[in-house]
Amino acid sequence: MPEPTEYETGNKPTWCPGCGNFGLWQALKAAYAASGLPFEKLACVWGIGCHGNGADFTRCQGFHALHGRALPVATGLQLSNPDLKVVVEMGDGDGYGIGLGHFAHSCRRNIDLTVIAHDNQIYGLTTGQASPTTEQHMPTVSTPAGVLEQPVNTIGLAVAEGATFVARGFTGDIPHLTGLISAALEHKGFAVVDVFQPCITWNKLNTGAWFRERVYKLEESGWDPTDRAKALELSLTTFHDMACTPEQCRLPIGVIYREKGVPTYSDGLPQLTGPLWKTALAPRDISATLAKMG
Ligand code: SF4
Repeated sequence: MPEPTEYETGNKPTWCPGCGNFGLWQALKAAYAASGLPFEKLACVWGIGCHGNGADFTRCQGFHALHGRALPVATGLQLSNPDLKVVVEMGDGDGYGIGLGHFAHSCRRNIDLTVIAHDNQIYGLTTGQASPTTEQHMPTVSTPAGVLEQPVNTIGLAVAEGATFVARGFTGDIPHLTGLISAALEHKGFAVVDVFQPCITWNKLNTGAWFRERVYKLEESGWDPTDRAKALELSLTTFHDMACTPEQCRLPIGVIYREKGVPTYSDGLPQLTGPLWKTALAPRDISATLAKMG
């Protein structure tokens, strides 16, 4: 089994000291090592955000995509080379904002991808504007009087749109988060791990301590992750707001929904028999088609 350090390039992350990205980075490396995945078979695609410079320090086949566009790039990679394990790292501003349409359609296609969402509920890289998951009423640089709208229900959206593995983790519990990422990597189909993490510089509300006081582990409460209706209900009833006390808002972490055996998008494309670069292109006679076109 590889060591977690084998997934490092030697370059060091440049995040603010104390950023939740560090915990997620530890969990990702541990999960990659546990999977035994050789780095040349690991393809990671990043969106834009503080997390997005991961290609500099993650030893893998890396691609730093445009803002919100990591999923289409990853979809192309997965379809054209199914020998790769394709992982997307996206931010809440990136993947649930401009990339939200891609996210919803990727869920319903059940593309065989692992998606890790760095959900710190703020735009960190661009200095503290409200993101799609910022708490309602929370003042930010871009909303000094407070956010007017509700945050995106990321878990509910993923379950409703057809993702077949939906989990939530917390960077304050690295072993638990590592287990969730490992399970997501093993899943065949569209797997989402939405990760609560603090942005210590710009989000002064949802700190590590704030999350720690509120999270609880689903697996310790007898949760059945195969019940889709209950998963949706959980996403609605555990929505939180900035004023709620630890007693009022309990935030579940763990595998919220998992359905095995659902055909993936690739299963509907039997002509994709393997990596395209290994597939010989047979010449086709298109004269009949051209004749029809006149
Ligand atoms: Fe992390 Fe926030 Fe600093 Fe970005 S601004 S590196 S998200 S703490």
